[in-house]
Amino acid sequence: MSGCDCAKARAELEEFLHNELRGDDVADIRAHMETCVECSEEHRVGAVLMETVKRACREEAPEALRIQVLARIRAEQSTH
Ligand SMILES: [Zn+2]
Repeated sequence: MSGCDCAKARAELEEFLHNELRGDDVADIRAHMETCVECSEEHRVGAVLMETVKRACREEAPEALRIQVLARIRAEQSTH
């Protein structure tokens, strides 16, 4: 494992989360996340954010929501 896939994984994470990637790119990123804790954590945070934003009332500011979610995830992580 070269470790040089992180940049690609991060760059494509957004599209990955929105299911906009081609199948082979999806496979690349999935394979990378299985071996890379940092990227899989980025993905987890992104997925939680997306779910939360989707469920949230549209009138709520996404930025405020994002900050709340990130704070919650960070707090959770610091207890482990
Ligand atoms: Zn990585």
